[in-house]
Amino acid sequence: MSTRHGINWDKALQLHAAERQRFIAARPQSQQLSARADQHLLFGVPLHWMDDWSTPFTLYVKQAQGASFEDVDGNRYVDFCLGDTGAMFGHGPAPVARAVAAQAARGITTMLPSEDAVWVATELARRFGLPYWQFAMTATDANRFALRWARAATGRQQLLVFNGCYHGTIDDVFVDLVDGKPVQRASLLGQVYDLKQYTRVVEFNDLAALEAALQDGQVACLLAEPAMTNIGMVLPESGFWEAAQALCRRYGTLLILDETHTISTGMGGYTRAHGLTPDMMVLGKPMGGGVPCAVYGFSAEMAQRAQQAKREAVPGHSGIGTTLTANMLAMAAMRANLAEVMTEQAYAHMFALAEQLAAGLRAVIARHALPWCVTQVGARTEFQFCATPPRNGSEADAILDSDMEHIIHLFLLNRGLLITPFHNMLLVCPQTTVAEVEQLVAAFDSFVQQVL
Ligand code: PMP
Repeated sequence: MSTRHGINWDKALQLHAAERQRFIAARPQSQQLSARADQHLLFGVPLHWMDDWSTPFTLYVKQAQGASFEDVDGNRYVDFCLGDTGAMFGHGPAPVARAVAAQAARGITTMLPSEDAVWVATELARRFGLPYWQFAMTATDANRFALRWARAATGRQQLLVFNGCYHGTIDDVFVDLVDGKPVQRASLLGQVYDLKQYTRVVEFNDLAALEAALQDGQVACLLAEPAMTNIGMVLPESGFWEAAQALCRRYGTLLILDETHTISTGMGGYTRAHGLTPDMMVLGKPMGGGVPCAVYGFSAEMAQRAQQAKREAVPGHSGIGTTLTANMLAMAAMRANLAEVMTEQAYAHMFALAEQLAAGLRAVIARHALPWCVTQVGARTEFQFCATPPRNGSEADAILDSDMEHIIHLFLLNRGLLITPFHNMLLVCPQTTVAEVEQLVAAFDSFVQQVL
């Protein structure tokens, strides 16, 4: 018998074969659409990532509402993936749907602001504590633009990231540490620049390495998630951010916190909850209730430096912004979402359910004495295939196992439960119920029992 992460791997493979058959049998319409899609969609999907799910063919959605969705074959699912955070506050929130419909009838994009822009910026300043804001269409773009402002404001070229980070498909950050050395990510397609030239990378939670990377005074900014969430979750050790912020200040390096996922921590993100003081902050995905948009904020000092850089620059295109940025539809969606959906009440519900979920998963793991653990950042929960939580990107990377993830994810999907296709992240939204969390925990337990 071969074992993997404490389970019987032969049994897991047998179970996988059975689960594939079960998936296929219950989804003839999805199978038919997948066959048709192969003719005109490259890779058979509108975005090639949609091939990364654990399913034998693409699962087609008919409708999504609140915490659940229905596929084109009439199967219903509780959604713990929630569009990998885009729908973190529920699918199609009614206030956003209403605002979008009303705004669409009054015009969608003019390359001029609507009044909503003023309301949204005022609200962002109140929530996140940074006084000035700009907009983008995606978190990727917001990060790209934040980096441009940071380099322009400091006159420095180097960028620093943590090993195993993800900030969207912004090229600069795809440099990994392999055996302690920076290496450009080999899987990047069509990338012709040597990214290592301007990107430095150190392990998360390693203050000595952070200082070594900063001390020549050439690093414009550190771009980081306050807790890593994209290589499995990695939490900052106690005191890490206080010391890291002090190092950034000492060496004149700006701190950009990407809160796109850690907005799960609370109304003001991880930053507010833990009293951090970044120079810039980036948020994307759920900000417009699923309507494409992103935001990035500036401290008063950083805003002044950015404006000065623009004033002193050669007149012409800054390389920052896109035509549809800050369009009236996105602004209306953000206003409704911030005012009526991303509320204290919504967070309170999500926190309670995430606690229930984490406790339930931990109980199953303990009952079966599995060498797994559970990590949580507010409304975001993850089970990981290691006995103690990883401390950095290398440790987190070492325990990723996509074969194993695919088997668990497909097993859950066949029981009407969707979780994020990358690693094992689970989100709850304001409409998720106690019974749905119990259902997830029971299915997780049933999976474990079948592969012990
Ligand atoms: N930042 C973080 C922390 C993310 O997790 C992601 C996406 N997973 C992004 C940025 C990029 O978001 P988008 O794909 O919407 O541009």
